[in-house]
Amino acid sequence: MPSSMNLVSTRVPRHSLYSLSDSSDSDPDNEEEQDSPRRLTPLEKLTLDMCHDEKTIKELNVGRRVGFYKVCGEIGCGNFSKVKLAFHALTKDKVAVKVVDKMRLDLSTQRMLSREISIMESLHHPNILWLYEVLEAPSRLYLVLEYAGGGDLHARISSEGKLSDLESKLVFAQIMSAVKYMHDSNIIHRDLKAENILFTSYSCVKVADFGFSTKISSRSQMLDTFCGSPPYAAPELFKDEAYMGPPVDVWAMGVLLFFMVTGSMPFRADTVPKLRRCVLQGVYVIPTWVSAPCQRLIRGILKPEPTERCALDQMLGCEWLLPVETLRSNPHFYQLNPVQLLKVRSGWAEQEEVHAALQKLGVTKEHILNNQGKNSRSPITGIYRIVLHRIQRNKGAECLPSITGVVRDPKRDSLRAYRNLRHTSKLCVLS
Ligand code: ATP
Ligand code: MG
Repeated sequence: MPSSMNLVSTRVPRHSLYSLSDSSDSDPDNEEEQDSPRRLTPLEKLTLDMCHDEKTIKELNVGRRVGFYKVCGEIGCGNFSKVKLAFHALTKDKVAVKVVDKMRLDLSTQRMLSREISIMESLHHPNILWLYEVLEAPSRLYLVLEYAGGGDLHARISSEGKLSDLESKLVFAQIMSAVKYMHDSNIIHRDLKAENILFTSYSCVKVADFGFSTKISSRSQMLDTFCGSPPYAAPELFKDEAYMGPPVDVWAMGVLLFFMVTGSMPFRADTVPKLRRCVLQGVYVIPTWVSAPCQRLIRGILKPEPTERCALDQMLGCEWLLPVETLRSNPHFYQLNPVQLLKVRSGWAEQEEVHAALQKLGVTKEHILNNQGKNSRSPITGIYRIVLHRIQRNKGAECLPSITGVVRDPKRDSLRAYRNLRHTSKLCVLS
């Protein structure tokens, strides 16, 4: 166990999470029972094992365990990280652990990484990957993330070909909802691309990889760092000038949409200078079989002049998307700080269930109170968020397929096709 990783206190609390708050109610007749030895809670047992059990300590030393997570195989690889599949040793939920080798990071990459963490901590949307916990060792940083088992959009299209018009609508609406939420929170992603759109189920997507994201103070703030992937880069990025954040994300979404509905990229070249020329010339060809409303949307987005580009609100209300209903987000969705659990009558649907699940694992009120101010850098936050997310998912918080009106392209997507998809997939479209 790396020394800088915090364990929760191994002291065995005498009261449960909830009876602690009413200590005056304790029954003197139970004193004897309380003094007799009792079984350790799962949390206490795991914490003790991590300090005393030889096998557990060995697994921690060789990296088969990180904190409370049992690490399995590798599931992805990025420029700065390896992503591994892992299980929470107590809750048994699957998670993805992004392992960053701090020794390989220069100062600016370190700054980007801490920005990635603080931005992910501030964003809570059903189509944005959840950050559960952050663990730090002397040479490594571990970001424990929601596991997206359906692979990324690039891999999906590369292996199965373009998405149908209807699937494109469902996926694109979710991406728009996530990006609108980010921009409303003054966050610019700056690396929207198919590789960073992950599937958690067949049609439910999550925006991932906030490594290039940045927080702006106002929508008109000018930025000057070239970020992202050249095939998705807006013309103003290739001009080496200061640029506004939101239109750059919108352009990348236009490229993404083109890729989803055609299976190919609008601007292609074998070198970056040639690609730059293509993007600056702004010439691309949309195949005629792409539906007319979708063509209009692509043209509205891929406008060379950033101020003329479609705004997200226009995109959300565009004709192509009319059959997909976007729903309002649940105001109680984002209870990401475990201290919320202690707030009496806070009125969120999952509170009791989360309470009970944590109590069963041995998480006490004392743990939660000691956890304050640690944000993601605490195993208690990790357990709490994983449990909360699972309970929200089970209650259908990420399963909101909805269609209004008539699907406008009967040749390609019948309403029946949509219903079939609805049975086999989960969709979440919130705004
Ligand atoms: P790059 O700079 O190349 O984009 P990165 O170091 O920022 O990479 P990510 O993009 O976050 O890393 O992750 C790399 C890959 O790992 C992703 O493309 C994806 O295939 C996989 N991956 C990342 N996070 C998850 C997750 N939560 N669930 C499943 N797979 C994931
Ligand atoms: Mg990536």
